[in-house]
Amino acid sequence: MLVEPPEKEVRLEKAPLPSNKWDYQTFKEYLLAQARGREFLLPLNEFPREIEFFEDWHRTFNRMRDATEQDDIERVALVGYRLKQRAIYLPNEHVVARTARKFERGGYRPVDPILTLIQQLSSFAEGLDDSIGILHSHPIEKVFGLRLFGGRLSAGDLHIVLRSACGSMIGVADGRVNSIAFKTRESVVPGDPQDKFYDLWEKEPQPQKLDELLAQKYNIALYKGAINGVLKRV
Ligand SMILES: [Zn+2]
Repeated sequence: MLVEPPEKEVRLEKAPLPSNKWDYQTFKEYLLAQARGREFLLPLNEFPREIEFFEDWHRTFNRMRDATEQDDIERVALVGYRLKQRAIYLPNEHVVARTARKFERGGYRPVDPILTLIQQLSSFAEGLDDSIGILHSHPIEKVFGLRLFGGRLSAGDLHIVLRSACGSMIGVADGRVNSIAFKTRESVVPGDPQDKFYDLWEKEPQPQKLDELLAQKYNIALYKGAINGVLKRV
């Protein structure tokens, strides 16, 4: 019996990706490629030093940041894609993550995975293939009016990306900083569930630069940038 050959797949161009700086087109191509499976994730040392966002991405981060600054409530948005159109979609409306989160045990509770699942379902309803990653905002953590360890992804956030709960990318607008993390080919997937992982790391005294420490430990490619700025690898 004859078996139909598999449909030709859309392929990433063979040329190696630039190591210095990715423009938005390269960034998009990579996101679309890695959406297709772990074997398409880049090795840690092939991520570029800088990534330039498209205006839309900045606008999304800024909208979330502004809304959270108003009411102290985290916003969450899934980044969807359609492989056929080679397109990435940023939602106009962001899901409000539950209620304002309590400051407890040295940090805010992480994004609730159930909520992101709900949004994932609504993305399907809009005809998207799936989600490629997740963007969100953090309320500003303050004690006596002083900002605590801001500008970073939480241990719970990094758990989401390591477990590919919503694609292999997670970004946050936290204070005056945008931060984004990518799962890599060498990423170590934690066995602990998210809340256990969170409690293990986000404890008092909270380690300084916890995001950088975890990026090193779990082989995550981590970037940070100023509002509307280029993202730089840390
Ligand atoms: Zn977070």
